[in-house]
This record gives sequence, C-alpha cells and structure tokens, in this order.
Amino acid sequence: MKKIAFASILALGLAAPATAQDWDAVEIKPIKVRDNLYMMTGQGGNLGVSIGEDGVFLIDDQYAPLTEKILAAIKTLSSDEIQFVFNTHYHGDHTGGNENLGNKGIDIVAHDNVYKRLKDSGTTKEGLPVISFNDQLTFHLNGMDISARHYKSAHTDGDSIVYFQGANVIHMGDTFFNEAYPYVDVDGGGSWKGLLLVVKSTLNQINDDTKIIPGHGPLTDKAGLQIYHDVLMDIDSILRPIAERGLSLDEAKSLNPLEKYDGDYGNGFMDPDTFISIVYQNIKDNL
Ligand SMILES: [Zn+2]
Repeated sequence: MKKIAFASILALGLAAPATAQDWDAVEIKPIKVRDNLYMMTGQGGNLGVSIGEDGVFLIDDQYAPLTEKILAAIKTLSSDEIQFVFNTHYHGDHTGGNENLGNKGIDIVAHDNVYKRLKDSGTTKEGLPVISFNDQLTFHLNGMDISARHYKSAHTDGDSIVYFQGANVIHMGDTFFNEAYPYVDVDGGGSWKGLLLVVKSTLNQINDDTKIIPGHGPLTDKAGLQIYHDVLMDIDSILRPIAERGLSLDEAKSLNPLEKYDGDYGNGFMDPDTFISIVYQNIKDNL
C-alpha cells in the first residue's frame, strides 16, 4: 500500500521533501565556528548554536520533522536547555520547527514582521514568537552580547542579521546565499535593492577575522561575503541598463545576460531562469 501511495504522489508531481524517507536520510551536522559557537547543517536553512553558562541560544529550526534530530545534535554539544530560538525570517525552512520547540516551552523571538507573517499563515500560538521587535534587540547571554539587527526589505521584510559580539561571528539568515544566486521573496516584502544594501552595510561592519554563517551554503568569512557582494553588484550593473532601455523580461532573457554566472551560481534554490525573472522584474518595477 505504501509503495503504491508513494508512486502515485510521484506521478502527480507532488514529491515534496516531506516524505518519511527523505527526513530519515537527513543528518544534522555541527560545524565548529568558535569555542561554544556552531553552525549546523541538515535540510533547510543553516542553524546557529551558542552554548555556555546561560544555556543554548538557537538560530532557526529548519523543518518540523527534523526537530528531534536537531535537539539530539545540540545534546552532543551541551546538556543545557535551549533558552531561546531566534528566527532570522519567516520562511518554512527556517521556522518549521517552531511549534515543536514552542510546545517544549522554549521562547521564540523574531522581528515583528516574522510574527505577523507566521500568524497570518495560520501558525498556531505555540509556533509564534513570544517576543518580537521592530529594529534591534540584544540578548546578554553566554558571556557576550548577541545583537539582532533588522534590515527592512531585503530577502523578505522581516530579515535579521545576528551579531555574536566578542566572538566576531555573524549569522546572516537568507540575506546571504553563499555560492548561489539569492532568492528575493518580493511577495514576502523583499527587494533586490534592499538586499544589495544589506550586503554592503554588513561588509562595512565586519573585519577579516569575522566568521559568517550564511542562510544557505558553506560557512565563510568577509572574503566570501565580498565575492557575493561583487557578483550581486555586477549582476545589477548588467541588468539595470537593460531595464532602463525598456526591454521586456522575455527580451532581456533572450540576451542571456547572466550566462557567465549561471553555471557557478544557478545550481542552488534559484535556477538561472527563476533568478533573472525575479530580479529583472524587481529592478524594472523600481526604476
Ligand atoms: Zn528564506
């Protein structure tokens, strides 16, 4: 029976990642960033984990079926309780575990717009932030200041970048797709121009020793963010003049203007066609 059901789901083209087999195969891997600070990969957005005398501070929580695996992975680092989970933005690959964690009494914290979007999408009370903020928020935990700064309209309208002050580590959420084309969620309040501003602003606030956890892609540093910045700026300088000439999206695509980047950057969440469609249209709409 199971096999037939699975096959018919595939036949309908509805093979979402939500099959038991897929979740079973996911491995949550901690990667040490500094003493007591880790990035963890699994399926979905990269997690950030701070451990120490005050307990565990977790950034993002991937998908609901992975919660127990994530908790088990954290237990290998610390036997302490999770004090807070911080959502960098509302997307399901970063907030899918919220309800499970909220049910365990863990406090969820995020920007006001994350709260609004999760609430509007029908997330239950347990999965919603109990604390939300409008601009900047600082946690005084584990011997350091952990500051979340909101940037309006970048990947979404609720993005936060988290600075682990003193450790010189930042988590950029999905304002940074390392080694891939970024996703600008225009319907979720994001904008291409705002994304460029966040990347530029962040570069100005870090130094060569800063470690950067991106929302997706491998752990990196300022040099990695500089490359991402330069690629995005170059893409802007290629697409903007075409938009200013008034070409339609199809006409712009026919020029194949991002060909030099498609091979290296078009294999992530954004394929080349979807990426140029979103970004070109957003540039045109905001000329
Ligand atoms: Zn996202």
